[in-house]
Amino acid sequence: MTANKQPEVNIGLVGHVDHGKTTLVQALSGQWTDQHSEEMKRGISIRLGYADATFRECPGLDEPKRYTVDEECPDGSESDVLRTVSFVDAPGHETLMATMLSGASIMDGAVLVISASEDVPQAQTEEHLMALDIIGIENIVIAQNKIDLVDRERAEENYEQIQEFVKGTVAEDAPIVPVSAQQEVNLDLLIQTIEEEIPTPDRDPESDPELLVARSFDINRPGTEWDGLTGGVLGGTLSEGKLEPGDTLELRPGREVEEGGQTEWRPVKAEIRSLQAGGDSVEEVTPGGLLGVGTGLDPAITKGDALAGRVAGPPGTLPPVHDSFTMEVNLLDRIVGSDEGEGEIDDISTGEPLMLTVGTATTVGSVTSARGEECDVKLKRPVCAEPGVKIAINRRVGARWRLIGYGTLQ
Ligand code: GDP
Ligand code: MG
Repeated sequence: MTANKQPEVNIGLVGHVDHGKTTLVQALSGQWTDQHSEEMKRGISIRLGYADATFRECPGLDEPKRYTVDEECPDGSESDVLRTVSFVDAPGHETLMATMLSGASIMDGAVLVISASEDVPQAQTEEHLMALDIIGIENIVIAQNKIDLVDRERAEENYEQIQEFVKGTVAEDAPIVPVSAQQEVNLDLLIQTIEEEIPTPDRDPESDPELLVARSFDINRPGTEWDGLTGGVLGGTLSEGKLEPGDTLELRPGREVEEGGQTEWRPVKAEIRSLQAGGDSVEEVTPGGLLGVGTGLDPAITKGDALAGRVAGPPGTLPPVHDSFTMEVNLLDRIVGSDEGEGEIDDISTGEPLMLTVGTATTVGSVTSARGEECDVKLKRPVCAEPGVKIAINRRVGARWRLIGYGTLQ
């Protein structure tokens, strides 16, 4: 097989908790992304999950039957590789919007999973769609899942509810594909629709590499002796350029260090020791898809997503780091995704705390000056970002952070 198996596009799975996102990823990739012990215990996704799938086709068959993830066609011949995609599996629980939002910043397109067995929209169906709209993810496919649980009449009613719900949103023209992730029904049509609606974006492999870090790990088993330790691993996506083992990365804003009673943020430098893409060790990675970067960092620094939200690239090439910034503000018309009803959104006021998602980074900021269309915020944790970048703005409403709009970094 000669096809390049490195994943080239990131496809998000979004939607309300329990509607079948993780099951759908499993059906297409063979991997169950809820691996964290707490996720297994509670049966819900807590962290960003990811898994790769290679879409293939059997040239002898008609559409949509020709689309598959199997290596073998029904006649015994080998299927042709179309492309490998990375799935970013977002948690759908309302308390985990920050995780969903930071995942959304690395999605090139998304599958919005909606259960046919519940009324539309459920709270996070609406909130996640709003987030896609805010972050500017326009290539969307809707999977109407769990059709095995409903009769034809109910399925049609639900389909109409979905059409009504997406009117006037970024998903207005998104195709709706009825599927059963669990019973593996209609997945060929879903693959065909993803192939048509979520193209691989054009990216420049010749420019300076920029790695958006979405996860970080310590992959050593507890109790490993120091001389057997493997360095810290970064998980993320390359937005441009390429990386090779031996390259040096700078991570910004890096980490907080204390010295003589003072704390400050210092960039972290790391040498690339190994690269993982598409489940294999590779000698070079190009943009798109999710990858694992083995580094020479002390695994204690990368443990438990401690470096998520950083940007990495050759030293001296990264965007500026901000501990405060000015953003232009666009508020939503109303609060969505709350069971307590939909509230009006008041203007941002000086002194209020906001939760801000900038790229894969999430930080709390306090508003130092609110001037209607614009406001200044001081951040608890600095972010590395280029002016013009979009910022998801969340406000504390009751016990939860709620998405209230977006900002543009000035
Ligand atoms: P997530 O929270 O969106 O990731 O949802 P999960 O993938 O964890 O699925 C939630 C529950 O719905 C699990 O018990 C699944 O087995 C079940 N489920 C998912 N897809 C289907 C489906 O197509 N049909 C049926 N009957 N159950 C499904
Ligand atoms: Mg899940």
